[in-house]
Amino acid sequence: MWMLLPSTLAGKLLRAFRKPLSSLWDSLVPWVLWLRATLWLAKSDSARPLRAGRRRPQKCTGDNGEGPDQVIPISVNYHFTRQCNYKCGFCFHTAKTSFVLPLDEAKRGLRLMREAGMEKINFSGGEPFIQDRGNYLGELVRFCKEELRLSCVSIVSNGSLIQERWFKTYGEYLDILAISCDSFDEQVNVLIGRSQGKKNHVEKLQKLRVWCRDYRVGFKINSVINRFNVDEDMREQIKALNPVRWKVFQCLLIEGENTGENALREAQRFLISDEEFQGFLDRHKEVSCLVPESNKKMKDSYLILDEYMRFLNCKNGRKEPSKSILDVGVEEAIKFSGFDEKMFLKRGGKYLWSKADLHLDW
Ligand code: SF4
Repeated sequence: MWMLLPSTLAGKLLRAFRKPLSSLWDSLVPWVLWLRATLWLAKSDSARPLRAGRRRPQKCTGDNGEGPDQVIPISVNYHFTRQCNYKCGFCFHTAKTSFVLPLDEAKRGLRLMREAGMEKINFSGGEPFIQDRGNYLGELVRFCKEELRLSCVSIVSNGSLIQERWFKTYGEYLDILAISCDSFDEQVNVLIGRSQGKKNHVEKLQKLRVWCRDYRVGFKINSVINRFNVDEDMREQIKALNPVRWKVFQCLLIEGENTGENALREAQRFLISDEEFQGFLDRHKEVSCLVPESNKKMKDSYLILDEYMRFLNCKNGRKEPSKSILDVGVEEAIKFSGFDEKMFLKRGGKYLWSKADLHLDW
């Protein structure tokens, strides 16, 4: 309506109201200041720490259920089966049960992990391709990439059971395939137990390298350095295979798995000293993709879920399970994981792990 009034008339009206308006404003000033101060105090109060017993969850290290902060499971290793077709003498996740969760329950657990902050999943075993000829694993891989939209889905396998048809169906959902290989001398692989019948481990490794290139999956190699391969020179073979990462572990003892009472393996004869491990690393220092992992770095820096979806705490040199996340939820179970996030970061656990980010030269 003001717009419709002639400008002279509008000017007269404004002048008439200016005085009463300014005195009204003067009387309101103290009230406005009081209101502002009250609102500011309320806001700063909400920024204070929560009262004792209502901790704010943070991305930080947990400590056997007594730690002050909540662990966020960014990167998780799910060992959904303990069954394997190989018999490596130092294996520390042995076939103590044949239990595997129904597929729907495994997916429910993975969804819970996603809601708790998981960004990367690694499927491992046992041998993960042994269940339903790789289809169980394939469905989990597809589910994690397509439905949970994880930035990285990876697998650690001995490679012997993988067929090309698996890559055709599921390869597009997989970021990284890590194949365990401890020697390029087949006789050494047989001595270690990384073999089955007439299968040639090294030949299969080379075939898998080609399939990874053809189906655009990042190719990785894992090697366990032990008494039988500690003097080997693998530089040429590793460079020729050109993996995105070559993870080199020191043989590790875990009570109840590969040493001590009730263990299915006796790994003492495979052990090497820290100096011997360092000697192997020094010999291979020119291999740029080499990522070393000593026992110290390895022990508590992995979040491990077993076949029942229980976190395995290795702090005391054996695998002590939490309750299952399917029964008590992630937040409760993870308090008992023994996970050392500082060591996880120190060992380079967070790296460019999605194949979209790797910019691979296929
Ligand atoms: S390949 Fe060897 S180390 Fe891996 S799960 Fe099988 S027996 Fe154990």
